[in-house]
Amino acid sequence: MVKRRQGKIQNRLLLWYIIGSLVPLIFLSIAVIFYLAPVTSWSGLLDLIEHTLLIPLLASFILILTLAIIIPKEITKPISKLQAAVDKMVMGDKNVIVDIDSNDELAALAEGFNRMTKDIISARAGLQADVKSRTSALLKSNTELQDSKTAMLNILEDVEAEKFKAEEQRAKIEAIITSIADGVIVVDKNADIILVNEQVKKLLQITDKVIGSNICDTIKLYGDDGVQIKMDIGKFLESKKSLEVFDRTLVDKNGSQYLEINLSKYKNIGDKIVGAIIVVRDITRNVEIDKMKSEFVSVASHQLRTPLSAVRWFLEMLLEGDLGKLNDEQIDVLKDALESNSRMISLVNDLLNVSRLESAKIKVEPILLSLNSLLKTTLKEATVLAKEKKIKINIDGVEDIAKIKLDKSLMSQILQNLISNAIKYSSNESDIIVTLKTIGNEVQFSVKDSGYGIPLGEQSRIFEKFFRADNVTRMETEGTGLGLYISKIVMELSGGKIWFESEERKGSTFYFSIPLEGSKPKEGSRSLAQVTSK
Ligand code: ADP
Repeated sequence: MVKRRQGKIQNRLLLWYIIGSLVPLIFLSIAVIFYLAPVTSWSGLLDLIEHTLLIPLLASFILILTLAIIIPKEITKPISKLQAAVDKMVMGDKNVIVDIDSNDELAALAEGFNRMTKDIISARAGLQADVKSRTSALLKSNTELQDSKTAMLNILEDVEAEKFKAEEQRAKIEAIITSIADGVIVVDKNADIILVNEQVKKLLQITDKVIGSNICDTIKLYGDDGVQIKMDIGKFLESKKSLEVFDRTLVDKNGSQYLEINLSKYKNIGDKIVGAIIVVRDITRNVEIDKMKSEFVSVASHQLRTPLSAVRWFLEMLLEGDLGKLNDEQIDVLKDALESNSRMISLVNDLLNVSRLESAKIKVEPILLSLNSLLKTTLKEATVLAKEKKIKINIDGVEDIAKIKLDKSLMSQILQNLISNAIKYSSNESDIIVTLKTIGNEVQFSVKDSGYGIPLGEQSRIFEKFFRADNVTRMETEGTGLGLYISKIVMELSGGKIWFESEERKGSTFYFSIPLEGSKPKEGSRSLAQVTSK
């Protein structure tokens, strides 16, 4: 813009020069013409110039010269001032002010220049402040970025360390699994095999090729009875069970190698179930020993039963006076002997029954049976024991139940076990409540006592073979720990369920239930040994 103005001013100056030069020239020309008009010869002309024109000519010349010197000086001075100011500015002096003391366009131009300088100065200051603030923001961001970078590097270092630890842990676990004495298979949620250790490869005759395949397609297992076992991993993982055990499992249904398969859940760090761990244990030796034990017990009990029955028969003969009249003291001794004999027969029967039930030789022969009358008979037998302890048996809520197809000896065994336990594990002069009712399509029996109860910590073991709870063994009550074990197998054979509720020092309630449709018959060589009073 300044340049444009400068151009305009120069054009005007040129105009002034032209006008300034032309005016005296015009006057001079008029004077020359005026004076030359009467001249007719060269000498006359020279005379005229010498005496008449010399002075005006000189005066015109001086005027032109003066104008030529003064006018440009007056006009170019402010322009030079402006030029100098521009030069100063170019050299870096920002505070240049042009002072032109006139009232023309040059003054306006100077004023514009000064305004422009001021604007430039203030814009420059603003720009500097802006640059300063942006630079400090940039520096701040840079520091933050550096901090974030350092933090990221630290996190990365931590992650690396954790990764290393996890790898180490994994290697440790793998080493443990590989060297464990039992066979181990790890499967994911879809039952696809992730890991197998050396032992399981030997036990199941498999190789690493099974990794990635589904366990159900790869490994076939059979029960003791030759029926294939379905290991439903998905169902197990969804269930609330923490462990599932497949006892006496065979890899080859005609083989003799027995395995115990334990299924447990496998969780990640977030406690989320991600698969299952299958522990395979060779129990062939245990099964053989168990069989031998059962056979021995069976033979021994059988051999013991005959002489014990003979002793009982002789004792009864003596007590009835068949061999002569006895005095009171003799009668008391014989009664004690008879009671001990009964207990021995009962123990032998229990042992015999256990070995028969375990060897699956027991037959189930359901007949249309009245549970009411069987219960009445059992209660009548139990009254002797109850009277000794002054225990009252209340028959509460015993419904008249229609006859159901059940095995009499099995039912009699279970009723007798549960009722005699209720009496045995109750304090003198307490009450027992017996109920028999129909619930839905089942018959449910219960016997409730307010006796010693079962300690909570031992309740899970109560149906185990030979198990007796601490609280009753401390009281020196007699027992074998076989009654409930037998009762459980009997219930399974009859198609029913057995369970209990108990609180130590408050009492227990034992239940069993069987479907109204009754039990299914089962082939076998033996029935249960006849129950005798405990
Ligand atoms: P036994 O009575 O010969 O010991 P059982 O198998 O019948 O064997 O019972 C196993 C154990 O269960 C008993 O020793 C006892 O600890 C506990 N038990 C069974 N019934 C009761 C009951 N009604 N009250 C308290 N404890 C009981």
